[in-house]
Amino acid sequence: MNSEKNPKVAIIGSGPSGLTAAIYTARGSLDTTVFAGNQPGGQLTTTTEIENFPGFIDGIMGPDLMENMQKQAERFGAKVIYSNVSNILINQNSESNNVAGNEENREFGLEFDGKVEYFDGIIIASGAKARYLGLADEEKWIGKGYHSCATCDGFFYKDKVIAVIGGGDSAMEEANFLTKFATKVYIIHRNNNFRASKIMLDRARNNPKIIFIENKTVTKLMGEEIISSVELTDTVSGATENFNLDGIFMAIGHIPNSEFAKNTLDMDAAGYLLNQTHLPQESRNSKFDSSSKIGGIFVAGDIQDTKYRQAITAAGDGCKAALDLEKWLGEKETLV
Ligand code: NDP
Repeated sequence: MNSEKNPKVAIIGSGPSGLTAAIYTARGSLDTTVFAGNQPGGQLTTTTEIENFPGFIDGIMGPDLMENMQKQAERFGAKVIYSNVSNILINQNSESNNVAGNEENREFGLEFDGKVEYFDGIIIASGAKARYLGLADEEKWIGKGYHSCATCDGFFYKDKVIAVIGGGDSAMEEANFLTKFATKVYIIHRNNNFRASKIMLDRARNNPKIIFIENKTVTKLMGEEIISSVELTDTVSGATENFNLDGIFMAIGHIPNSEFAKNTLDMDAAGYLLNQTHLPQESRNSKFDSSSKIGGIFVAGDIQDTKYRQAITAAGDGCKAALDLEKWLGEKETLV
């Protein structure tokens, strides 16, 4: 690809949002690099069957969907780098109309693997990661009975008794999946209001291997080498009890992967990045919905979405960000 003619863009993240963006930018002849990050393929690589992604009548496995998206992006020339971006630099020496495509005159620098590479535009689609309970010694139990990915680790719990923590769709989905292996799966939820959709909740309730424990939370992890029991605390009475389990799987939501952008971009209190759709009307400074407050940096997918967080909405966001970026590169809008 001739860099003199084609602007060079980076996409941070390789989930549905990032890879959809890459399909669009690469197909639109932008020199596209995808930074795949810690979890190539994103959160869908840790799920089982996706039944509600349009176009797949009988569903598709999450990892297969992501592999297909990556191959599709690569078919149009996108390069996928298995690295983590650690910082975004605004290049003071940039030229807004860098027609020659000179490296040092591009707008943004991305730090990764101890080096800096320059780009004319960026789409951030870095998603979110699983949340753990935040118990004092939890780090030492991760992978030793304490998990966040049923697809990855469920296999190790054949004929065991395990629990899923949470009351959302993820908890229901994980619990159903884990009944393939475990003899019994408890769903432990800290109250009795479930965020899960009715269909997912009903499916879990109708699964004879799933037992619901409501108004309880795990407050201690115990065992020798691996977890063999937990302390459960009643969230109403405060009473505690020891509960024997072979393992627990977390499904209590996510933390946005925005650490690398903290010096550069606006984010909310939880760390979700803000694009124009989140800013109050008077603070919006771009006509491009997916633009951050810095012209040329666009934000898409779960890193900015606290509401929908679906693969299809993330993919749609990625598409919009790519179209916005493409148009922005043509116009070089100056933000105020
Ligand atoms: P949600 O935010 O929907 O649910 C998180 C759950 O974890 C809630 O029940 C919450 O309880 C509980 N929780 C949060 N923090 C703690 C804590 N510290 N201790 C104990 N419990 C806690 O997250 P999900 O990951 O389930 O879903 C995210 C989005 O993804 C949703 O929009 C969902 O619909 C979607 N999704 C869709 C799927 C599908 O369609 N196939 C599959 C999986 C997810 P509380 O309510 O008390 O805050």
